[in-house]
Amino acid sequence: MKNRYLCAFGQPMKTIQLHDLTFEQCISNTEVLQAVNGVAVKINDDYKQRRPVFLTVLNGAFLFAAELIKKFDCECEMSFIKVASYDGLKQTDEVFTVMGAEPSLKGRDVVVIEDIVDSGNTIETIIQILEQEEVASFRIATLFYKPQAYTKPYTIDYIGLEIPNDFVVGFGLDYKGLGRNFTSIYKLKETQIQMKNLVLFGPPGAGKGTQATVLKDKYDLVHISTGDVFRYNIKNATELGTLAKSYMDKGQLVPDAVTIEMLNAEVDKNPKAKGFIFDGFPRTEAQAEALAVLLTSKGTEVAAMVALEVDDEVLVERLLERGKTSGRADDADEAVIRNRISVYYSETAILKKFYERQGKYFGVDGVGSISEITERLSSVIDTL
Ligand code: AMP
Repeated sequence: MKNRYLCAFGQPMKTIQLHDLTFEQCISNTEVLQAVNGVAVKINDDYKQRRPVFLTVLNGAFLFAAELIKKFDCECEMSFIKVASYDGLKQTDEVFTVMGAEPSLKGRDVVVIEDIVDSGNTIETIIQILEQEEVASFRIATLFYKPQAYTKPYTIDYIGLEIPNDFVVGFGLDYKGLGRNFTSIYKLKETQIQMKNLVLFGPPGAGKGTQATVLKDKYDLVHISTGDVFRYNIKNATELGTLAKSYMDKGQLVPDAVTIEMLNAEVDKNPKAKGFIFDGFPRTEAQAEALAVLLTSKGTEVAAMVALEVDDEVLVERLLERGKTSGRADDADEAVIRNRISVYYSETAILKKFYERQGKYFGVDGVGSISEITERLSSVIDTL
């Protein structure tokens, strides 16, 4: 029995993409087959001349069962049962019997073949079924066992490998139907569950920058303001700065291709980030899609778009006030300000629908003191 993942030192980690998630290899096929062998040797010893019924729990255990049963040297019979407990990544408490064992197991010595014992809910259901069937005896064989997740009192008689409490796929195990055919085992990339990526949204002058500065410290996130990055480039007279300036001075959006490339580079500069606050990005649907692609490739996603809602006239007033001290050309001219606000509504508000469709849009009243607004934003972020 082993209680660790073996990954060859110095070897690049193999990753696979299943639906929206990235998984990385954690157990090789060789180790899986060794684990199967270990179980097979013990079952051969214990069940010689007893003609057991191998009861395979579908769907996940089919590959394990195939490997294991081939190695059983004496007479045996086979039966199959199907129960369901996973809803995507989450194991639900309820276990449904989808297909019962045929023919009757009454009076038989049964070896249950499971792919993985997690919380133990499935095993509990199967044991109840075996007791109702009045089997002579039963034992449980599982390829993988998660001791940290197991909450039931039943003994697991044969264990291939003990593994940490990660979501794993491969060798019969799936994520939303995919991944069963992989001969090695892959676990969900850790960053995906840890990172908290927020899109801070709202018209110019809504207070995004101020709130982002507070929230980044509070939640230990990296703040990326595309407006700030453009301004930095203008100040340093870079090629990007010169290009961006021509758009920014008129209150227009910098073209998507330029902005997306810049944003990708900013994200890549922070490989250890626990999450990002995107401020001023995305501003178009193409940018939102590009952000989704970028984050998926890093095994994570946007957790929420949190939008500060402020009335237009309050915005104009605030920006003119800021223009007196900020030195920003686009804050000094009321016509440019009004254009930025109208660009926001005509082009950018479509983003609200984009994230609403995914159930990720949260509107927050942006009028009040800084701490009041932080409080309102935090009450949304804390639920994510
Ligand atoms: P901000 O500081 O966010 O108000 O941005 C100032 C200006 O930078 C905008 O009016 C745009 O010209 C440009 N800009 C900032 N972010 C983006 C973006 N995501 N897409 C296109 N242009 C942007």
